[in-house]
Amino acid sequence: MPSARRIMVGAVPVGGGAPVAVQSMTCTRTGDAAATLAQVRALVAAGCELVRVSLPTAEEAPAFARLVREAPALASCDAPVPIIADIHYDWRLALAAIEAGAAGIRINPGTMAETHVREIVRAAAEARVPAGGGEEAPVAIRIGVNAGSLPKDLRGRAEREPAAALVEAALRWAARFDEWDFRAYKLSVKSSSVPVTLEAYRLLAARTDAPLHVGVTEAGTVWSGTIKSAVGIGALLAEGIGDTMRVSLTGDPVEEVRVAWKILAALDLRRRGPEVISCPTCGRTEVDIVGLAEELERRLAGDAALAGSAITVAVMGCRVNGPEEARHADYGIAAGAGEGVLFDHGERVEALPEGQLVDALLARIRAAGA
Ligand code: SF4
Repeated sequence: MPSARRIMVGAVPVGGGAPVAVQSMTCTRTGDAAATLAQVRALVAAGCELVRVSLPTAEEAPAFARLVREAPALASCDAPVPIIADIHYDWRLALAAIEAGAAGIRINPGTMAETHVREIVRAAAEARVPAGGGEEAPVAIRIGVNAGSLPKDLRGRAEREPAAALVEAALRWAARFDEWDFRAYKLSVKSSSVPVTLEAYRLLAARTDAPLHVGVTEAGTVWSGTIKSAVGIGALLAEGIGDTMRVSLTGDPVEEVRVAWKILAALDLRRRGPEVISCPTCGRTEVDIVGLAEELERRLAGDAALAGSAITVAVMGCRVNGPEEARHADYGIAAGAGEGVLFDHGERVEALPEGQLVDALLARIRAAGA
């Protein structure tokens, strides 16, 4: 079941039935404010709704503060894109991030003294950040536990039952936050193992109503990490588990956002931009369907005016199955022997040479305002 409790991370609702929010993380040096701002801009343009930025040293706090100040200009809505500070070990950096106006912070409390975690929670509860519509919210905290920093008494169990140990550690901290009367938290129990991640989140979802941040950590390069993330995150989302997600890839974080949206679209949970359906090609294919489909997908994805569109475009390779499939999509191409037929909402509208198909279809989609 989706988490019952809703929190606000800045203006973005997380949990309580809100749409699964897409998150990513910058990989520039935070101290280089201009480079980080440019990357935040690219992430937002790709559909990233929560941007996490590491704050590894106090020297980078001014650049982080500048980022938070300038982030409002990056969003098209009335509230700034929420910037979440990623904090490790040093509780004072968490306080600096809150002071700078971060909408959320991510900590692994297991790496800090409990008194220091208490100070962070106190500061987050007292702070106020814009939550859209003139409202304000406390600074949200993600309790992100991992296998490397479990309490001593759980380490033996982690060898036998890694998922259960992660969940136990997360729930202990959640209980402390509840005692401190701080409810604006979400939980994560990521692992680099897909089976452990699945088991951990299933156990966790059964024992808490707090929003869950889901992901497979250190998933790998763009190719293998995409597969691991699609399997791990996709399986959880299909079961209704997960309120915000991060696809973790060794590569351009914009790819993380693209993959996240593809996972959401594949599950019919959310759509962002046109979807291209294309046939796998076979011995009947008489045109370059791979090239046609890739060009169409690239040009549709690069058209900012279509970012809010939910159209489906089919690219099919022959006269056997092509027309039927193309007819069922919003737009379609059914190709064959160096030419193809365009379909517009089920209607066959035009036969054109192969080289004109993509341009003509895009012109038609744009003219219709998608
Ligand atoms: S649509 Fe035609 S070309 Fe494409 S895989 Fe099916 S039969 Fe082959």
